[in-house]
Amino acid sequence: MTVERSYRRGDHGPVVAEVRARLAGQGLLSGSDPVYADPDAAVFDDAVDVAVRTFQQRRGITVDGIVGQQTYRSLDEARWRLGDRILSFSLNRPMSGDDVAALQQRLLAMGFDCGRVDGIFGAETEQALREFQRNVGVPADGTAGPATFKALGQLTHTVVGGHPHALRDDETIHRAGPTLSGKVVIIDPGHGGSDRGASGHDLDEAGVVHDLASRIEGRLSATGGHAYLTRGQDGNPSQLDRAAFANAAEAELMISLHCDRQPSPRPNGVATYYYGSDRFGHFSSMGERFAGLVQREIVARTDLLDGRTHAKTWDLLRRTRMPTVRIELGYLSAPGDAARLADATFRDVVAEAIAVAVQRLYLPPDDDAETGRLRLPALTQA
Ligand SMILES: [Zn+2]
Repeated sequence: MTVERSYRRGDHGPVVAEVRARLAGQGLLSGSDPVYADPDAAVFDDAVDVAVRTFQQRRGITVDGIVGQQTYRSLDEARWRLGDRILSFSLNRPMSGDDVAALQQRLLAMGFDCGRVDGIFGAETEQALREFQRNVGVPADGTAGPATFKALGQLTHTVVGGHPHALRDDETIHRAGPTLSGKVVIIDPGHGGSDRGASGHDLDEAGVVHDLASRIEGRLSATGGHAYLTRGQDGNPSQLDRAAFANAAEAELMISLHCDRQPSPRPNGVATYYYGSDRFGHFSSMGERFAGLVQREIVARTDLLDGRTHAKTWDLLRRTRMPTVRIELGYLSAPGDAARLADATFRDVVAEAIAVAVQRLYLPPDDDAETGRLRLPALTQA
C-alpha cells in the first residue's frame, strides 16, 4: 500500500475519499460518510483533520494530521479483523495488518513463539502457526484459513501474566555474552542526500547526525564491535530500506539518530524512542531498556533537558528484528541546543554516552556502574 504524495487539510480527490472511508470504518468520522459519485468531491476538511490526528495518536505514529506513506499504510492495516482474509507468509511482500497482530497475540498467549507482536506475517509467525496447527490436528501448512480460524476460536484460553516475547528478547541478549566483540551494531543517521531534515542556527540535521554517527562508529569499532552506517554523506534510503539493511546484517542493535525542530525557539532537550504500542499492549522490552540506558547516559553527561523515553510504532522501530532506538538529540530551533550541537567536543560527549549505553546493555545488571561515570577504556579492560 503506497500513496504517491502526502494529503492534508484542503486536499480532495479519490485518495481522500478512500481515507474518509477508512476513518469512518474506524468510527472516527461521525455519521455515515457520503458515497461520492464524483471522488473528486471528497474533501479533506476539518473533521478529517481531527480524525486523522486521533487515529495517529491511537496508533503511536507521529501526530501531524497529514496522510503520508506511514499513516496511509496504517489506515489500511487497521481495517483487517482476524478471519477477514487468508493469511500466509510471503518473503517479498509480507502481509501486514491488525488481523496478523491478533493472530500473533493468540499464538503467543498459547505459548507458540512467533517473536513479537508487530502485525507483520514473517517467517517466525509462519513457524509458530505450523506448530500450533500440528498441535491441534489441522494440516500444518502455515496458512491461516477457515480451519485454523475455527481451531483458534475453540481455543480462546487466556494466559495471564508474562510476556513470552519479552522473555525471548532478554534471552537473545544473554546468549550474546557480556562483551561487544564481534557484535554488529547499525547506526542510522537520519535523512541525507537532498533531504537535509530539520535546520536552524546554521546547522542541518542530516549533517549533524552523520558526523555523530561516525563518532559513535569509531568508538564501537575500538571496543571490538562491528558498526555500520545505513548511509554515506549522500544517500537517503527509505525507512523500510534502512530496516531491511539492519535485518540483512543480522545486527544485534540499531541506533537511529535525528534532531528535532519546532516553530518556537523554546522546546529543547533529548528524547529516546523504542518499539511499542499501548493498543496491542506489547513492546520491545530490550528496546525499552536500551532506550532507558541511552537516555540516562546522555542526560547524565550533558545538560540537555530530559525528554524521557517513549514507545512508538514508527516503521524503523517496527520493521527491524533487533532492539532499535531512535534518539531525537536536541532542537535545532532552540539556540541553546543548537550551540551545543555545533560544538565538536559536545558531539564527542554524546557519542561516548551512546557507546557506553551499548556496552551497558551487555553488562550483567550487578556490574552496572554509576551512570555517567563509565569510560569506554575502563570497560574494555574489564
Ligand atoms: Zn529527522
